[in-house]
Amino acid sequence: MQRADVAIVGGGPAGSAAGYTAAKEGADAVVIEKGVPRADREGLGPDSTDAAGILDYWVDLMALDEPIPERVKLQELNAAEFIGPNETLEVTDTNLESSYPNFGFTIHRARFDDWLRERAENAGAEYRVGDAVSDIESHLTGAPSHTLTLRDGSEIRADYLVLADGPQRTITGTVLQNWLGDEHMETLSSRKANHIAYQEYRRLPEELFERDRIKFWWGYMPGHTAYPWVFPNDEPVARVGLTMPIGMDMADVENRESYRLLRPEDDRIPQGGTYIERMLEDVYPEYDLEDFPLVEDRGKTGGTETYPISSTRPIESPTVANVAVVGGAMGATSAFHEGGDHVAIRTGHIAGRLAAQNKLGAYNAEWQRAIGDEVRRNCVFADMVRGYEPDDWDTVFGLVNSVTSDDGFTPRELVYGGTTGAKLLGEYGLRKLRYWGGRYAQVREDDYAM
Ligand SMILES: Cc1cc2nc3c(=O)[nH]c(=O)nc-3n(C[C@H](O)[C@H](O)[C@H](O)COP(=O)(O)OP(=O)(O)OC[C@H]3O[C@@H](n4cnc5c(N)ncnc54)[C@H](O)[C@@H]3O)c2cc1C
Repeated sequence: MQRADVAIVGGGPAGSAAGYTAAKEGADAVVIEKGVPRADREGLGPDSTDAAGILDYWVDLMALDEPIPERVKLQELNAAEFIGPNETLEVTDTNLESSYPNFGFTIHRARFDDWLRERAENAGAEYRVGDAVSDIESHLTGAPSHTLTLRDGSEIRADYLVLADGPQRTITGTVLQNWLGDEHMETLSSRKANHIAYQEYRRLPEELFERDRIKFWWGYMPGHTAYPWVFPNDEPVARVGLTMPIGMDMADVENRESYRLLRPEDDRIPQGGTYIERMLEDVYPEYDLEDFPLVEDRGKTGGTETYPISSTRPIESPTVANVAVVGGAMGATSAFHEGGDHVAIRTGHIAGRLAAQNKLGAYNAEWQRAIGDEVRRNCVFADMVRGYEPDDWDTVFGLVNSVTSDDGFTPRELVYGGTTGAKLLGEYGLRKLRYWGGRYAQVREDDYAM
């Protein structure tokens, strides 16, 4: 049986980051990544969704000790557009302190993951790809340790366990269920905890390719934080995708005629591919669908990808058992803005370092100090827009447009937006208060019965 100080399940951004800091701190660290094939990567690698966008302040949140290499970047961004049925909001400044010079950038995700893996390996971590962890047995008598069984039957015994298996939590779930009650496990089940994200690589007509902005359409399709988007990849290819809740029932959709991407004949929620075709037809009516051909040598399957994305509030980890849950598996990533690489990397960095230093007990407090503001803000915004219909998005975008000054927009500016603005600001403040002191976490450390 192999021995390690720190075993990390999953080799995405969070797992690689954990392997990097654990090895850098002198621990014997092993990252186990089951490995998936991709059309745009040679050999197996992490199961990564491509061409993510990174905002300026996210770079600081990642706390990398070197710049992200240029070869990983696809486009530098100057803006994001939020498009409602009748109102469009252009945001050119995140208004959060950041050292990155532009609004952000889009990345080639496989190259990004490969770079993170190289960093971990160069620091001395072992990155094993091509074999999945199938089971974990935790021993809590005396100093905790964990025995991981891989699909090939081999075993690894480690003092510390970092769970970085992404939002589906296939292994995280089996480990946590040892210590969490059914009511908690039920809320962590992947149908409840996740949204589904579907995306296609489409070649755009040159004149429609906007290299410097990411675009989101809100109020076009029903469902909480359900929206299509376009992200620029390498010119003139864009990633056209959408996020939507899992298992929505058409019977639950009120005012269905107000959603531009629904049709009267729909007797169930359309598939992702249907939504995208309708979106392209609606947004670019002077073009035909054939003007946006699918680029089939990208992504996972013929130019398309389907992924889960975590949509719930994060969980604290059972550090008494020498276990840290990081990144998508802990639910720190957000379906509200598709963002997660920054919090995945930061939580991975913290967990790997603390495990190597035998100080994992500080993990929950440390990640909350590092990314708590970001997570709290996203949880509050996601709560506030629950139940929003198309008109509500127009109201909010119109309001923000009306109060935005040359210096940009912060929620405080809403006070200048009359009664609606003041109400929204009040609600924002109240909800933030409710999540004060880490109360945005839906599982607290005390909830684990050891
Ligand atoms: C469509 C979509 C768009 C997104 N857009 C953005 C964006 O624009 N910007 C942004 O910052 N973030 C974005 N995200 C979120 C971002 O991709 C995630 O937050 C990030 O990948 C989380 O990293 P992770 O390492 O925690 O998990 P993952 O990247 O999910 O990695 C988990 C890894 O664990 C491996 N694994 C799982 N089970 C096992 C097992 N049993 N044994 C071994 N290995 C296992 C998987 O193969 C996978 O490689 C997006 C996500 C989606 C789905």
